[in-house]
Amino acid sequence: MQQATKKIQMVDLLGQYEHIQAEIDAAVLGVIRSSAYINGPEVKEFKAELEAYLGVKHVIPCANGTDALQIAMMALGLKPGDEVITASFTYVATAEVIALLGLTPVLVDVYPGTMDIDVEAIERAITPKTKAIVPVHLFGQCADMERIMKLAEKHNLFVIEDTAQAIGSDYTFSDGRKAKAGTIGTIGCTSFFPSKNLGCYGDGGAMYTNSDELADKMRMIANHGQSVQYYHDSIGVNSRLDSIQAAILRIKLRHLDNYAAARNRAATWYDNALGNHPKLVIPARVKHSDHVFHQYTLQLKGVDRQAFRDFMAERGIPTMIYYPVPLHLQKAYRDERYREGDFPVTEQLCASVVSLPIHTELDEATLKLITDSVLEFVNR
Ligand SMILES: *Cc1c(COP(=O)(O)O)cnc(C)c1O
Repeated sequence: MQQATKKIQMVDLLGQYEHIQAEIDAAVLGVIRSSAYINGPEVKEFKAELEAYLGVKHVIPCANGTDALQIAMMALGLKPGDEVITASFTYVATAEVIALLGLTPVLVDVYPGTMDIDVEAIERAITPKTKAIVPVHLFGQCADMERIMKLAEKHNLFVIEDTAQAIGSDYTFSDGRKAKAGTIGTIGCTSFFPSKNLGCYGDGGAMYTNSDELADKMRMIANHGQSVQYYHDSIGVNSRLDSIQAAILRIKLRHLDNYAAARNRAATWYDNALGNHPKLVIPARVKHSDHVFHQYTLQLKGVDRQAFRDFMAERGIPTMIYYPVPLHLQKAYRDERYREGDFPVTEQLCASVVSLPIHTELDEATLKLITDSVLEFVNR
């Protein structure tokens, strides 16, 4: 067998770094030499540059994406007993902060093609106690925000966009107007975890909003509820993006659109090679959103998923399952309200999805090896 020149990875962070090494190394050393490690100029510059990129009035950096969701919910004044609707097919952080704040997570199903939150299911789940909807722009494509916003207006609900997987994705409204993922709802929350589309070299996150009042509240909550130094107006948390991460993010933000284009080239290769196969369902694309392919997730039909993953692993090709267990069947979130069979699409997805390597450094030879291997297994 032909010797692969480079180990195939789900995400190649070292390869990506090597293209921008000189810039990154200088920026990191610059922060160290400045000794402005916390809230230094790099954080302020990054905040302003991200605001300009997103076309949003306020970006409030924080320590990670989970904190961003928590601070957003605290700023909205949500109280124990309030219901917050989100998808059962998502990363745990979304429901975790809802529960942690004593709010009631109300889970709903997703659409089979896009795997994004089902808007009709949201509508059915609304009660007099509902206060907010948290759509997750799963795998890099926006949920149906226009319909979600209409629903929110009708029922007077907040919308917190979980855009941890979709930074940079453009949403297109039916009148042709465009807006970046996370800038449409009341607040948008994102993560700069290393493997995210805009990843730093540690932890990081941010909230976005066009409201001056909410921006002030979130800034205060993220800083121990402090209005003036040593005067604390509300109970807050300690959640900061550090200056080294901000310096790295400033450099990577300039490449974000190229990174999305590279991910899309890989996704197009996968689509072309694997679309139209009876045992494979490729990710559905929608008119209302770009896809920035945080993940490229196939659904297998009548294929032994574990045997498939073992076969790929033998070829040196990693695969991942995002996500194997729906939130309503997780030990921590399972309660008397939910049972197996409640969210058939989510449960079907958890049993059938598999994600292929996708990142900014995939060349054609690697993509061909991956798709040839997938086809060889499913055609056996
Ligand atoms: C990564 C992620 C988060 C959490 O971000 P962290 O920075 O890891 O805390 C939240 N929601 C979704 C959908 C994510 O993918």
